Amino acid sequence: MQGNRGLFVPGPTNVPESVRGAIDIPMEDHRAPDLPRFVLPLFEDIRKIFKSEDGRVFLYPGSGTGGWEATLTNTLSPGDKVLTTRFGQFSLLWASMCERLGLEVDVTDVEWGEGAPVDVYAQKLAEDTEHKIKAVLVCHNETATGVTSDVAGVRKALDQCNHPALLFVDGVSSIGSIDFRMDEWGVDAAVAGSQKGFMLPAGLAIMCVSRKALAAVESAKFPRCYFDFKDMIAMNDTGYFPYTPPMSLIRGLRVSVDKILGEGLENVFLRHAYLAEGVRKAVSAWGLRLCAVDPKSYSDTVSAICVPDGFDSAEIIKRAYFRYNVSLGAGLSKVAGKVFRIGHLGDLNEVMIMMALTGTEMSMRDIGVNVEPGSGVAAAEEYYRTAKNGYKDAFPPQATQATQAAAE
Ligand SMILES: *Cc1c(COP(=O)(O)O)cnc(C)c1O
Repeated sequence: MQGNRGLFVPGPTNVPESVRGAIDIPMEDHRAPDLPRFVLPLFEDIRKIFKSEDGRVFLYPGSGTGGWEATLTNTLSPGDKVLTTRFGQFSLLWASMCERLGLEVDVTDVEWGEGAPVDVYAQKLAEDTEHKIKAVLVCHNETATGVTSDVAGVRKALDQCNHPALLFVDGVSSIGSIDFRMDEWGVDAAVAGSQKGFMLPAGLAIMCVSRKALAAVESAKFPRCYFDFKDMIAMNDTGYFPYTPPMSLIRGLRVSVDKILGEGLENVFLRHAYLAEGVRKAVSAWGLRLCAVDPKSYSDTVSAICVPDGFDSAEIIKRAYFRYNVSLGAGLSKVAGKVFRIGHLGDLNEVMIMMALTGTEMSMRDIGVNVEPGSGVAAAEEYYRTAKNGYKDAFPPQATQATQAAAE
């Protein structure tokens, strides 16, 4: 293969060169006397990305799924009741983990393509006058369908009936890419993973946990060992880890956190909204529709695109991969064959998105989908060319001129 393969799955995402450089280092002593000087400020800065003042950051070797398990087993006991909803593969898997762990799971299914049903949460919480529900779970950004849900709405549902349940959020494909507010939304545990918005290889669960959830650890009876918050806290307080940490990933994380905070969290959100909008312009110019039904819930990190009846989305993905070296995201489980996904999160710009759109457009035409040649690509180009938006504001003209001058 000549040239680069375009990576447009919604995780793992592209790892910026600066992050790769930070990872590619000689191995180091994870008990070195100066390690705390590096580790302690990193925890502080990660907290800013969760928008939390006093939440506790955890870094576990593992992935987002490990973060889910750490959250549940540290704060709950077998048989505890949890309230959740299923509307895509990731909300489904988290509910299934709850069942496998032996929790009592109250789960409501909604159509894939819709968001977390805030009214269902509100009703079930209001009915639970004995406060049997110990935790409420929400998948903030359902990566399988490209739907972002209203976590603040679920918080409101809890508050309206003064329900004391903990609020746990899967933010694996949202945190660090789209607006997430741990403190303001009263989130008790938020889970992210290194390979999505944090632009790193897979291998770290990145979490933030509220004081209320940490207090629940005292009475939580699930057996736990590797993921025990208490072991982690005891060592993290001193700037170390209870077992060998993946230092190369954590060195990379330092650079990715600097990149996110350097661009400015709000600018990162605007850039994602802007890149996503270009993708959506292409989708509508192709005459196709998104799996997400409500424009208010369109995800700015991933678009799941429905293929017309009679076509198999896997054929588009295969064609794009083998012929054009473009990796697109598959349709998962219930929507397998029906949708393909374009991940547009992490270290991306307009022209990189154009690669995904061009590869998609050619592949669709190759397998016989009736899309006008160049239609989607042209719509996205025109949007990017003419959009006046916050992403551009993030790069003020002075900076652009300075960059130009430097280049000349
Ligand atoms: C990717 C993803 C996960 C799974 O995370 P792993 O890191 O693969 O364990 C969970 N939830 C959502 C929303 C995701 O996008």
